[in-house]
Amino acid sequence: MCENPACADYEKRVSRTVECDVVVVGAGPSGITACLQAAELGLMTVIIETTGRFGGNGTEVEGIFAVGSKMQKELGIDVTFREVIESECKMFNYHINALAWQDLVRNSAGNIDWLLSHGVGLSGVVDECKGDGEVPVFHWFKRRQPDNRGDGSQLTRPLLEDAVKLGAQAIPNTRGMELIMKDGKVAGLYAVNTETDEVTRFDCKAVILATGGFSDSEEMMAERGFDTKHLFHRGYPGHYGDGVRMAASAGAEDVSRVRTYLIKLHIDPLFFYSQTIMYIHQKGLTLWVNGNGERYANELCGEHVAAFFTNAKMSQEKTFSVFDTAFIERNRVNAPDIDKDLEDLLNGDGNNVFRADTIEELAEKVGMDPTILSANVARYNELCAKGCDDDFAKPADHMIPIDKAPFYIVRQDMAVWTSIGGVRTNRKFEAVKPDGKPVPGLYAVGVEGCELYRDGYTMNMPGSCNGNSVNSGRTAAKSAFAYIKGE
Ligand SMILES: Cc1cc2nc3c(=O)[nH]c(=O)nc-3n(C[C@H](O)[C@H](O)[C@H](O)COP(=O)(O)OP(=O)(O)OC[C@H]3O[C@@H](n4cnc5c(N)ncnc54)[C@H](O)[C@@H]3O)c2cc1C
Repeated sequence: MCENPACADYEKRVSRTVECDVVVVGAGPSGITACLQAAELGLMTVIIETTGRFGGNGTEVEGIFAVGSKMQKELGIDVTFREVIESECKMFNYHINALAWQDLVRNSAGNIDWLLSHGVGLSGVVDECKGDGEVPVFHWFKRRQPDNRGDGSQLTRPLLEDAVKLGAQAIPNTRGMELIMKDGKVAGLYAVNTETDEVTRFDCKAVILATGGFSDSEEMMAERGFDTKHLFHRGYPGHYGDGVRMAASAGAEDVSRVRTYLIKLHIDPLFFYSQTIMYIHQKGLTLWVNGNGERYANELCGEHVAAFFTNAKMSQEKTFSVFDTAFIERNRVNAPDIDKDLEDLLNGDGNNVFRADTIEELAEKVGMDPTILSANVARYNELCAKGCDDDFAKPADHMIPIDKAPFYIVRQDMAVWTSIGGVRTNRKFEAVKPDGKPVPGLYAVGVEGCELYRDGYTMNMPGSCNGNSVNSGRTAAKSAFAYIKGE
């Protein structure tokens, strides 16, 4: 008899049962890695994926973090754990799990060898990833044409193919819904076919949740303080928080409120990587004001860690970028679509961009007090003339006055790539309860069980999220093997 009360309804609807050792829920990089590692260890393994395609957000991932890999050695790159951990700890006031970083770094070179042995397409290029990182730890996947970006399917495709060759079953269109618990231990899972609504009961000894977080759940994002009306989605759909919900119902701790996101400032409906967005929101070249018209931050605060832009934005209720015609003239070369984008936005129905001949008129159009906005623009211009940002310490070369009409104001929306961290895990990637004890037979991997970050996703160690997917997937599968064999 299942101890989870939600199981009764599913049990009545079961149309088939599958017996196996382990079920992996979610087929992104972490789930696929766990599946292959489990199959390699000889476990009867099934991986289910709620959508019709395998790979999750992993197919968009461009590379993977590692320290001490054979490629780095060949290139003469020498990065140490000390450099990684010193930077992470300082950046986040020691508010991170250093042991999670230690495990990731220690295992990372071996993980690269393992990936290569399974035919993963790494290009051989290792660098700081588009200048985001502090150290060269980003191992690029082979390029995809025509956009020449790193191709994440170079990771997920060969791993899944090898898992299937070793006997793993990969089942698409199947959503894991409820854990079956007996004597406080995982005993299986109910899953629903998303096309036919049929229910399958998996009788197994371990479940690995690789569900990729909850960023597509309007309800969960709203509960966590996001204005979902102005929140847009960069990732593939399929991330509805099932992993956190199932783990919590089995007694594991839901830590999603104290973890983080890969999330950036955005202007809807522009493309997420558009230079117009970069120049208006992410280069520190405009003035940032809140809904009252008050300047609220150093506009270059996320120069090295993009998460700091959104952290600063989230400190205020509503936020905007303000600039003038001279800003457009100066940045046209690097953001060639800026004129067209602004015209389209002004003619659109988004109400996220306004233009006016005076700052007072601009404030009225966006619903701010004209006196406050003009006082803040005047103060900003005064600091620009002085060449020193006495208020928020933005570097002087980014302090450029706003004085050439017409003037513009653009709402700062957000685009979420993924949530990172939801189920509390230990070093074996077991899902743990608030008292620190594991839920027997339950594991959480990838972004679902990630313990690396707290106050933001640190691009300064690029590819670490994906490094964690591979490391957690392998570690959880090995832990499940030991658990099932009673070791
Ligand atoms: C556009 C983009 C680019 C990125 N680039 C990088 C990068 O270059 N480097 C990096 O380190 N990180 C990057 N990331 C972060 C990235 O999300 C992770 O590194 C990686 O995809 C996480 O893998 P995962 O397996 O945890 O989750 P996902 O890749 O999100 O996979 C989770 C899978 O679980 C499925 N699922 C969810 N619920 C269920 C359920 N109940 N039943 C069955 N299946 C379910 C989902 O449909 C999905 O396929 C990027 C993210 C995005 C969106």
